[in-house]
Order: sequence, then structure tokens, then C-alpha cells
Amino acid sequence: MTDTSSDAPATAGRSGRPGRGRLLVLAGPSGVGKSSVVAGLREALPELLFSVSATTRPARPGELDGRDYHFVSAERFDALIERGDLLEWAEVHGGLQRSGTPRAYVEEGLAAGRPVLVEVDLQGARSVKRVLPEAVTVFVAPPSMEELARRLTDRGTDTPEQRQRRLRTAIEEMDARGEFDQVVVNDDLQAVIARLVALAVDRDAV
Ligand code: ADP
Ligand code: 5GP
Repeated sequence: MTDTSSDAPATAGRSGRPGRGRLLVLAGPSGVGKSSVVAGLREALPELLFSVSATTRPARPGELDGRDYHFVSAERFDALIERGDLLEWAEVHGGLQRSGTPRAYVEEGLAAGRPVLVEVDLQGARSVKRVLPEAVTVFVAPPSMEELARRLTDRGTDTPEQRQRRLRTAIEEMDARGEFDQVVVNDDLQAVIARLVALAVDRDAV
């Protein structure tokens, strides 16, 4: 179907509501390739806004405040929750840390007609969908569990114990993939990026 309204903004028709950008929510098991997908997507679609989460965990070597996360104290995180500044938040890694999505950045981006991407865990994807049902939730799945294990090993960032824990969590996450609007198998990375570009800007792709 074509958008026939001549005075509509350029982005009209790209999302559920005319003039609003589309919200993409990306989730999937650790090691499936989400960071690789996000990096490629940001390059392929410079208009895309990427939501930087707030977190109470300390920065890892190489991570930058404001780029990878907004690193905040537990007290500051409490204040963000209290003021309603987070679209969603969750306890991750067994409650050792909390991470959440700043509301204003997402809302303002969508209102300005920009596509916005948030990358969250399973609970986060469920929460965003509850608050903003027009969001398009995308589950990035591995071609197989064997390939997921291989990618985690090849990435070389986790101990064998951490890999085992991530793989156990991955089984639970895979069980929930039916809840998502879209399931994309990360086999050919460039094909996944192209699919996500379409989902971000093309009304008919969903
Ligand atoms: P995540 O962010 O989901 O934890 P990463 O982006 O860190 O995952 O990717 C995990 C590993 O898998 C990395 O070594 C990455 O280079 C590799 N990888 C990502 N996508 C693909 C793909 N389509 N095919 C093969 N390897 C991939
Ligand atoms: P890490 O601490 O390794 O960067 O991330 C741990 C987990 O937290 C990942 O599953 C990641 O997707 C999730 N995460 C990161 N930011 C957010 C957020 O803002 N909200 C939610 N719900 N999960 C997040």
C-alpha cells in the first residue's frame, strides 16, 4: 500500500503512527551476534538512533561512559526509577546489577520521526512491548545451538563456566522466541542487517 497523503512528513507511514519513527527492540542469546548486527545496522542506517542504557555495573576495559552505557550509582538508578525516567529496567546477572532504558531519548527520537533501536534482555523486550505495543520486537536466533557455542568460544571473552551459564540461559531465551514479532536467524550477517534496515524504515516489511 502507498502513502497517498501529500502533506505528510517524509517518515509518515514508516511506523504504526504517521510521523513517528519505528521502535525496534532487539534481543537474543549472548554470542548470537547482536553487537555485530547493531554495529552493521548503525553504519547502514545513519538516521537510526541507538538507545544507550543506564547501568549500575562498573565499566569494563574499553567501555566508554555515554557510548556503551551511562554508568550510574545505585542511588542515581533509584532516582531514575522514582522519577519515571526509565522506559523499562531489569535486574540482570542474578540481581547483581540493574540496567534500564532512558525514556526521554526513545520518546523524543520517535516523536522526531527517527527509527530507534534498543537492545535489551528478554524481560526488557517484554516490558517495552507492554508500554509501547507499536514497537517491533526482534529475536536474533543462532543457526543452531552448536554454532552459538562455537561463537561464544571463538569470541574468547568468557570463561568456560560463563559460557556454560550463557548457553543455559540461551535455551530459556530460545523457548521464548515465539513471543517476538520477528525472528531473524543470524546466519548471513549482511542479510540480517538488510532485514533490520527494512524493519526500521519500511512499513510493509513488518
Ligand atoms: P552478542 O552481542 O550477541 O553477544 P557478538 O556480536 O559479540 O554477540 O558476536 C559473537 C561472536 O560471533 C563474535 O565473535 C562475532 O564476530 C561472531 N559473529 C557474529 N555474527 C556472525 C555471523 N553471522 N556468522 C559468524 N559469526 C558471527
Ligand atoms: P552486559 O552487562 O553484559 O552488558 O549485559 C547484560 C544483559 O543486560 C544483556 O542481556 C543485555 O541485553 C541486558 N541489558 C543491557 N541494557 C539493558 C536495559 O536497558 N534493559 C534491560 N532490560 N536489559 C538490558
